[in-house]
Amino acid sequence: GHVHMGFMREIIIGDAIQRLLKKKRKEVNFRIFIDSYDAAKRFPPYIDKSYADNYVGQPFALIPSPFNDIEASSYAEYFGKELINTFPDFGVDIETIWTHSLYQHAEMHEQIRIGLQKADEVKKIVLTHLTHAMSDSEKAEKYEDYEQWMPAMVVCESCNRTQIKNSKGEISPNRIVNYDQVKDTVTYICPACEYSGEVKISSGLVKLNWRLDWPAKWALNPKNVYEGSGKDHFTKITGSWDVATDLCHQIYGYEGPVGLGFEWVRLGDSDMGTSKGVVFMPKTYLSMAEPELLRMIFLTTNPSRHVSFRIEELSLLYDEYERIERIYYQLEEPFDLKKKLDDYSNRLQKALTKELEKEALEQFSLLIRNEQDIEKRKLLAKNKKGKIEEMVNEQFSTRFTEQLEKYKKSEEAEYSRQRGEIEFLYPLIRAKNVKKECPPQIPHKFLVNMVQLRKYISFEEILNKAQQTQEQKQIPAIISKSYMKKRLQQTENWLNHIKTLIEETEDAQEKIRIESKVDLFDVPKTVSKATIGSFDEKQLLSLKEFSSWLNQIDEFTEENLKNSMIQIRDKTRIDAKNLFQAIYMVLIGRSVGPRLGPFMTLMDLKWIRKRFSVFGKK
Ligand SMILES: [Zn+2]
Repeated sequence: GHVHMGFMREIIIGDAIQRLLKKKRKEVNFRIFIDSYDAAKRFPPYIDKSYADNYVGQPFALIPSPFNDIEASSYAEYFGKELINTFPDFGVDIETIWTHSLYQHAEMHEQIRIGLQKADEVKKIVLTHLTHAMSDSEKAEKYEDYEQWMPAMVVCESCNRTQIKNSKGEISPNRIVNYDQVKDTVTYICPACEYSGEVKISSGLVKLNWRLDWPAKWALNPKNVYEGSGKDHFTKITGSWDVATDLCHQIYGYEGPVGLGFEWVRLGDSDMGTSKGVVFMPKTYLSMAEPELLRMIFLTTNPSRHVSFRIEELSLLYDEYERIERIYYQLEEPFDLKKKLDDYSNRLQKALTKELEKEALEQFSLLIRNEQDIEKRKLLAKNKKGKIEEMVNEQFSTRFTEQLEKYKKSEEAEYSRQRGEIEFLYPLIRAKNVKKECPPQIPHKFLVNMVQLRKYISFEEILNKAQQTQEQKQIPAIISKSYMKKRLQQTENWLNHIKTLIEETEDAQEKIRIESKVDLFDVPKTVSKATIGSFDEKQLLSLKEFSSWLNQIDEFTEENLKNSMIQIRDKTRIDAKNLFQAIYMVLIGRSVGPRLGPFMTLMDLKWIRKRFSVFGKK
C-alpha cells in the first residue's frame, strides 16, 4: 500500500552517498528494487474488501490498480509510482527495478537455477540460522516444518497465485515437487486451486523465496557494495540480513554488500505505520513543505538514532534551513566571532587582574616574612600597594596575550569547523543544483500570517512585502510569482493539516503544545457586539483615539504605529497590555496574536480604518 514518509530516510541517505561518490568521479549505480513479484499476504484497510477475496496470494504486479488517479497497470505499479514520482522533487536520482520484470530476464533465471541446484544447501543455511538458539525439541519441529521447503515457487498458470493462507493463517507457497535440470523445468502443485503443472525456468513464472531473492539480486551486480534497510533486518544471526549475506556468499559466491540499518522515523510521538490507514506519505509532505527540510533532517541525524518529525515545528525547521543557506552564501556567520572574542577579552581582563593580585599578595607576604631586617620590612610594608601593582603589571600583558591567543585559536577553529560542515552539508541538502547566489528566502512565519490574511491582502502586496523583507537580509534574489504561489499553497495545506491535528489530538497538554508552535488566528468579518461590550472605558477611549489617528495618516509604518501607541497611552493613561489586547481583539478576535507592528503593516490601511471606524463615532 501507501509508502510512508519515513522510507525517504534510506533513499535520501543513499542519494547523498551517491552524490559524494560521483564527486570523487566514481561510477555509481543507485537502484531501488520494487518487490512487485511478491505475493499479497493481506491488504491495507483503505483497499476494497473484494481485493482480499479475489487477489490475496497473487503477486502485486498481477493485481489490478485499486485507484485511477495515477496511471498504473497494476497494484504494484500504482503504489510504486506514487512513491517514485516524488523522487525527482526530492532531488533523488535513482533507477527503479521492478522485480516482476527482473524475473523475466535470463540473468535472473540463471540465479534461480543455481538456487534450485543447491536447494539442500540453501535449506541447511537457513535452518542453521533460524534454529541457532532453539532447544532440541524446537529444532526438530522447525526441521520438520521445512521438510518440503524449496527456495522457489511458481506463479500458478491457472489462478495466478504463488501462495495461499489457510484458516489457521499459515502461508503455504505453491510447492515445487521436482526440478528437472535436463529439461530445465519445474513441476509444481498449487494449493490454492489444486492445479499441477510443469513450467520452464525461463517462463518467468518461477520466483525465488524471499530468503534467496535478496542475495540473488545482490549477486547480479557483484560490485554492489552498499544497501540500506530498516534496522529490523539486522538482528544478529537470525535476522534476514545475516541469513541473506550467508546465502549470498555460500550459494552465489559473492561476499555480499555492506549494510546499514536505519532507526525508525516517527511522526511526532506516533509511528508512521500504515496499519491505522492514514499514511503520511512523501507526497503529503511535499504538499506542505520544501524537500530540503526533510533532506536536512535525515542528513543531520545519525542513522542509528530515531527521528521524530514534528510537522507543527515547520517554522523552526525553515529558520534552521535558511540559516544554513545564508552561512553557505556567506551572508551570515556561523556565530559572531568578534563579539565572542571581545566578551572573552573583557571577562579575562577582570578575572586575570583578580588572579594576579591574589598571587602577588601571596608573594608579597612571603617576601615580608622572609625579610629579617626590621627597617627593610617596614619600608616594604609601606610600599605594599605600589609593589603589588608592579608585580601585577609585570605579569599581566604576557599572560593576557597568551590566554587570549589560546581562546582565539580554539574559537577560530570552531568557526571554521562549523563553516566547513555547512559547506559540505548544504549541497547535499539541496534538492536541485546549488545556485551561484542565495535563492529567495521567505520566512515561514510570514507565510503563515499571509495565508490567514489572504482575504484582506492582495497577492502583489504580499509579494512586495516579502521582497522588502528579503532585501533587509541582503539577499539579492527576486521572488518569482510562481514561487510565491507555491509557498503560499504549501503553507495553506500545512495550516489545514495542523488544524486537523489539533482537532484530533485528545491529550489537552499536547493540544496546547502544538498550538504554541503555530500562530493560528482567524479574522472575523466584523467586530462583534460581544467584543465591543467587553472593553472598558479606557480601552474604548484609546480605540477612539487610534481610529482618528488612522484617519490622519497616509501611510502605515512600524515607526508611526509605535509613536501613536505612545501618544495614546499619554493621553488615556491606559496600560500597554490592555491597549494591545484591545487592538488584537478588534483585528483577529483574540487577545494575543503575531507581533503587532509587522503584522499590521502588512494589512491594507483602508481596511484597518474601516475596521476601527466603529469606535470613532462613540
Ligand atoms: Zn492455482
